Amino acid sequence: MLRLDVEILKKIPSDFIRFELLEELPSFELHGEILHFPSPVKASLLVSKNGPTIIVEGSVSGRIKLICDRCLEPFDFFFEAPVKECYAHTPNNSESEFVSYSGDVIDITSDVINDIILSLPMKSICGEECRGLCAKCGCNLNKGHCNCKNDDIDPRLSVLQTFVRKMNPEH
Ligand SMILES: [Zn+2]
Ligand SMILES: [Zn+2]
Repeated sequence: MLRLDVEILKKIPSDFIRFELLEELPSFELHGEILHFPSPVKASLLVSKNGPTIIVEGSVSGRIKLICDRCLEPFDFFFEAPVKECYAHTPNNSESEFVSYSGDVIDITSDVINDIILSLPMKSICGEECRGLCAKCGCNLNKGHCNCKNDDIDPRLSVLQTFVRKMNPEH
């Protein structure tokens, strides 16, 4: 969980403080799938105060497990997402446009997960070279070959191809 101890802002003379955090984030649901982080997420944040408002700016980066749209295998996607959030220390003020917090610690976990979701690609592909699944037998073509490919070429055509190759040896 990402929690910022903003109490410290009252104790130091400057109006901002830098947080460098490495934290485990909880898994979450997106479009009916549970996504999780295989390793701790790095957060570099500058936290400043503007009157009663706390401004959190920076970025988070790390790895998240996605399912490849082509081969349907899980893979680690490296993300880097910008973070910019404002929190108002007015728990009972419903008119505030900012998320409110109480006490001296702000839990920014759910806001940061939303920022990470925004940084995810529309299509998840494990790699440019991913060959996907065979449309006929469903075999993962990254892991091995199947015999379906040969069926695509009409046997009569393959004879013709051999003939053309013989006629044009340079091709
Ligand atoms: Zn793939
Ligand atoms: Zn196949």
